Amino acid sequence: MKAETFRSGLRGAAVSARARPRRPGALAALSLILAGCAPATTREPAQPQPETVEVAPAEAVEPEPAAPVPAPADTPAVAARPGPDTAAAPELELVHICAGGDVMLGNNLDTLWARAASARLGQAVPAFPDPDGLLAPLAPLVVDADLVLLNIEAAIGDGPAPSKCRPGSTTCYAFRQPPAVAGALARLAPDAAVVGNVANNHAMDAGIDGFRSTAQHLRAAGVAVTGVDTLPTLIALGPRPDTIAVLGFSTFRAGPDARDLSAVRRHVARAFARYRRVVVSVHMGAEGRDAQRTPRQTEIFLGEDRGNPVAFAHAAVESGAALVIGHGPHVLRALERRGDALIFYSLGNLLTYGPFNMSEPLNRGAIACAAIDRAGRVDRARLHPTIQRPPGRAEPDLSRRGAELIDSLSRLDFPESAARVEADGTVRWRSP
Ligand SMILES: [Zn+2]
Repeated sequence: MKAETFRSGLRGAAVSARARPRRPGALAALSLILAGCAPATTREPAQPQPETVEVAPAEAVEPEPAAPVPAPADTPAVAARPGPDTAAAPELELVHICAGGDVMLGNNLDTLWARAASARLGQAVPAFPDPDGLLAPLAPLVVDADLVLLNIEAAIGDGPAPSKCRPGSTTCYAFRQPPAVAGALARLAPDAAVVGNVANNHAMDAGIDGFRSTAQHLRAAGVAVTGVDTLPTLIALGPRPDTIAVLGFSTFRAGPDARDLSAVRRHVARAFARYRRVVVSVHMGAEGRDAQRTPRQTEIFLGEDRGNPVAFAHAAVESGAALVIGHGPHVLRALERRGDALIFYSLGNLLTYGPFNMSEPLNRGAIACAAIDRAGRVDRARLHPTIQRPPGRAEPDLSRRGAELIDSLSRLDFPESAARVEADGTVRWRSP
């Protein structure tokens, strides 16, 4: 475990945060931030775009076992990090999780963009850079995590694949990462369990076989997979094989349906009853620079029902989730507190290498880290803002603008229940 540094570091940050006055200018600052988000002149796609060709109902695997059961063969319980502890070791008091948004490290279904990018940027842009090198700048942000959760915003595999998009479509994009990406994701945090969420709108871009190969490559590399079905992905940390449970939802073909709130409540409550520490990943909502606000209603984007993120998140938290990790809008969104739980409505783009628009605010992302106690409550949390530069070079954002942006959006969208983000990224949500 490398939790002690993280634990003590957060404790120190939290103490200093309590001594800091609130920033009365932050609300006004948002208008400046948003005003700076003028439409880009680039003609690049805004970001991984929605599937508009085949939107089938999400699978509805519903085993509803009566007693604790092992995960099915396609979602094995993952003894990802037994660590040096012995069977006699005590259960961890706190589990430290760090989560990021969308990750896509190259696309072997289309490499033509790299030629155009090379001309535009005035330098040779490889279609497939070393994935370890792409991820390396982010490693320090998750070095103290026990568990790292990322949204895998593309299939993983190689070889022939069925065409996802209709000829001539301008709103359909198909993404598949080379297999080498899976190992690089595992090496991002070699001392932690790494979990990849595949409940999103691009995990099936290479068809159902590509969806299967994505999970196979991730698991073969030691990355646990969540979002395949409704059973929680169990992560072993220390002596227990089920220290923490992770569930993935989306409003797309891949993963349980985030719009079916009664099912969401059922799945999360079942996991909470058995494992207590539950983290929920969700891919939903509208996309782009006009999607920074979190509406309390169903979002329609490109004619698709992208779900009601507030209703979803509240259902998950009320059923026992400690953390809701949102992604999909490709921009940062608000952070809400609900009791001892935290809802990150969107962590934006973490690392999306390719022909994407990386103008403000699409270039901003964040890694959210939180410690969860044995009762399934968030004990402390911190945000690490990140920034991307074309064609997808991510690094810590030294300006920390993402922290201010999330703080401002939180107060705008959730004036009664906003969690506050200090300039150094410390999250405060309890009353003083
Ligand atoms: Zn997406």
